[in-house]
Amino acid sequence: MIQIAGWRHIYSGKVRDLYESTDAAISHLLLVVASDRVSAFDRVLEPTIDGKGAALTTLTNWWFDRLDVPNHISHEVEVPAEVAGRAMICKRLEMFPIECVVRGYISGSGYKDYVATGEICGVEVPAGLGFGDKLPEPIFTPAFKAELGDKDENITFARVVEIIGADNAADLRELSLNIFRHASELAANAGLILADTKFEFGIDPKTGAITLGDEVLTPDSSRYWSQVAWQNGERKESFDKQIVRNWLAANWDASSDAEPPRLPDDIVAQTAAKYAALVELLTAANR
Ligand code: ATP
Ligand code: MG
Repeated sequence: MIQIAGWRHIYSGKVRDLYESTDAAISHLLLVVASDRVSAFDRVLEPTIDGKGAALTTLTNWWFDRLDVPNHISHEVEVPAEVAGRAMICKRLEMFPIECVVRGYISGSGYKDYVATGEICGVEVPAGLGFGDKLPEPIFTPAFKAELGDKDENITFARVVEIIGADNAADLRELSLNIFRHASELAANAGLILADTKFEFGIDPKTGAITLGDEVLTPDSSRYWSQVAWQNGERKESFDKQIVRNWLAANWDASSDAEPPRLPDDIVAQTAAKYAALVELLTAANR
């Protein structure tokens, strides 16, 4: 990660690098830099994907402008020139340790849980659904946010209530479902299905308001599918890092301790193209 004058590095997640200002007058702000790192199965992979950080930042800003929910973007100071286009100045939130996942379609870890128990995060799901099928309505399927290096864990709504209290839990569920419905409509304008997504919320310490943080509705936090492909029965082709997941699943045992293999050039190139294509599709259809 890079040195940025006036900013001190404080944390790196799998994809983002967080900095705080060296100026105490703006200690309530964070500089969130989206790197080109790619992760799958909770592991950071080699090599990086050119342009990915910029695509994530463009999409997050684009969605924030279209959602009527308080978000963490601040305009108090400018993004430093050396990371322009792939960084955001954010209000530092007290994050809830909950990944607010919403699913309109059944796949990923949701499908695994469904096959094993007939439920996802304690939500009952009708019998007989196949991988990638549409749910009768979007459902809130939260996960507990693991420490760096651990795997996030699907939990029930009752467990969310225990962790953050009944009022916050109800607010997060309602906000998440509302944003998901709205975002699904804009995605549909672009011929896309928003299969599922994950939000992270926090409390703005200045106002006490529940505020949308992190990245939103990007291919890293969401599964986007082509409507046409889905109607033709396709269930795995998507505008997200599924290409990376599929390649890894075929070439590496995710449950092993072994280091994941280096991604081949064609997988890297295809993934970069998917990120760019998604930005173009969504923004062109909703101008
Ligand atoms: P982890 O942090 O567990 O590695 P991750 O891989 O998703 O998860 P990144 O997305 O790379 O992490 O890093 C972003 C980090 O910044 C996340 O831990 C996220 O919760 C946190 N974050 C995002 N927005 C804010 C904010 N406004 N205030 C404080 N923390 C934030
Ligand atoms: Mg993240």
